[in-house]
Amino acid sequence: MSRIAYVNGRYVPHAQACVGIEDRGFQFADGVYEVCEVKGGRLIDEARHMARLDRSLKELRIDHPMPPQALKLVMRQTVSRNRVRDGIIYVQITRGEMRRDFPFPPAGTPPTVVVTARHHDRARIDQLAEQGIAVVTMPDIRWQRVDIKSVALLPNVLAKQAAKEQGGREAWLVDAEGFVTEGASSNAWIVSRDNKLITRPLGTGILPGITRSVVLDLIAAEGLVFEERPFTVEEAYAAREAFVTSASQLVMPVVTIDGRPVGNGAPGLMAGLLRRGYSQMAAVS
Ligand code: PMP
Repeated sequence: MSRIAYVNGRYVPHAQACVGIEDRGFQFADGVYEVCEVKGGRLIDEARHMARLDRSLKELRIDHPMPPQALKLVMRQTVSRNRVRDGIIYVQITRGEMRRDFPFPPAGTPPTVVVTARHHDRARIDQLAEQGIAVVTMPDIRWQRVDIKSVALLPNVLAKQAAKEQGGREAWLVDAEGFVTEGASSNAWIVSRDNKLITRPLGTGILPGITRSVVLDLIAAEGLVFEERPFTVEEAYAAREAFVTSASQLVMPVVTIDGRPVGNGAPGLMAGLLRRGYSQMAAVS
């Protein structure tokens, strides 16, 4: 079965799906995106993802391409036309297509909307979670508004590639003061020796992860000890546990940082508890 993409009002086979060469997303990375988990054909935490998409659009003054109900319908159609049971849905909205020039195009220029969905192998991700992943730290060289989920991901691409070349699956980005900001495509967490869950507070320096917010609800519901504060790379090396959160991996244990084992070098109890508890907290729609 060929994959189907939604592009500006039409459902088309991937091979024929295209946007113009002067699209602002292609020319300037002038656009935003969202990634939502699909489980059993249903969207997970859709309302929170849609709220973050609205915020990203507002922050960049990109017009909403269609009413929220219509976009929800397109997302569902894209999932069902691709027969995705478990996977992800990707939504990208750019400032549209116009002769290349830095200032915004004239008011009324229609934004470009692309929606794709793809299957992922849940069993493989669960298996990975049983092993845990390796992360590699590196300087955070991104711009100062990474709270906006923009498609300008070049520093993240370079960080992920560097991590991969060093045998890691994720890069942990480190600010000028030596504090971990977040992963290149996930939020970063540690569990201290005295069993406190620690993650960086929201601000302009990290993406407000939806999985992070659901895990926070879970922590509150379970009455776990939690500290929202920046942590250093040295603290992470010395931590009892570490893990990352993202819509595609949920709660993923980290077993080595820069080649050093975290705790006893195996996925931690807290990460396991949160991973198992996640589905009870996540909203299905
Ligand atoms: N930080 C960054 C930089 C990301 O790219 C992602 C994944 N989109 C996250 C955090 C995690 O966000 P979420 O839980 O909403 O997937």
